[in-house]
Amino acid sequence: MSNKNIIAIDGPAGAGKGTLTKKLCDYYGFTGLDTGSLYRAITLYMIEKNYDMDSLDITKAINATKFISDNHEILEYAKNPKIRSQLTNKYVASVAKIPEIRQIMKQYQIEFGNNPPNLPDGSKAKGAIIEGRDIGTVICPNAPVKFFITAKPETRASRRLKEYLDQGESASYQEVLASIIARDEADRTRATSPMKQAEDAILIDTSENNKEATFEIAKKIIDERLTII
Ligand code: C5P
Repeated sequence: MSNKNIIAIDGPAGAGKGTLTKKLCDYYGFTGLDTGSLYRAITLYMIEKNYDMDSLDITKAINATKFISDNHEILEYAKNPKIRSQLTNKYVASVAKIPEIRQIMKQYQIEFGNNPPNLPDGSKAKGAIIEGRDIGTVICPNAPVKFFITAKPETRASRRLKEYLDQGESASYQEVLASIIARDEADRTRATSPMKQAEDAILIDTSENNKEATFEIAKKIIDERLTII
């Protein structure tokens, strides 16, 4: 089948893309793809294999990506909680800016959108939600629904800090804020597929909205645009 019900969600770290994706998938019976977890998985693999992350050998990085994509190990790494550690956060943007790595990931994401995997209970997905930075612009430019989710850096840093502390990692608010700002800048200014709001994407600022309000705004638009049966 070639799935037509595709929702593209983009935006910076900590804006609430993951929470919104999960709520929408549960509500509509869609399967979600967190594309950040793919770039994080590649980064974690290289950290664990002791690659020199501060001066990354691009050829080695591309070969590693091909290797773990071909043997599907990437999906195992993507489930490892360490992909959300501060160390992975530090290096992920420098891995994600490599054009050849993005190209390998692009094929995977397009295939996922066209043929979303079954839901956890084995039933057929009614559509796909893909979230990341370049979904509405590069991966699924024809998606009938696109959102760009954002929030003030301070709000996003507070959310991330809470996640770290909940995971038992020590971190200071100032460090987390600086890391978020640095990653935003790297993602926004890279040459290949920078983070960008698609012209036809709907902007939702979650700084003042709670999760429920954000969900309701998105739901109203999806109900207007998609036929989900
Ligand atoms: O969404 P998340 O914060 O987990 O993404 C981690 C990193 O992966 C981003 O900062 C960005 O560098 C990269 N990424 C990307 N393109 C995507 C998704 C994530 O470059 N579609």
